[in-house]
Amino acid sequence: MLKITKCPRCDSAKIKRVKRNWTGDFQGQVYTVSGLEFYECPTCGEKIYDRQAMQKIEAHSPAFVKIHA
Ligand SMILES: [Zn+2]
Repeated sequence: MLKITKCPRCDSAKIKRVKRNWTGDFQGQVYTVSGLEFYECPTCGEKIYDRQAMQKIEAHSPAFVKIHA
């Protein structure tokens, strides 16, 4: 599992793993991923997603929804 102790953008050690409902936007389409775990820096707002989080986002994203003819 990805372990981050320092924010890559501002060097803050306050960055921490959070679990919350995450809202994304794809070409104006808003979608929500419930209970997504990712790292968030309270100092600069940087968000870091590990592979698991990325897969969860992709699974919910309209960009990856298969359209059936
Ligand atoms: Zn930061």
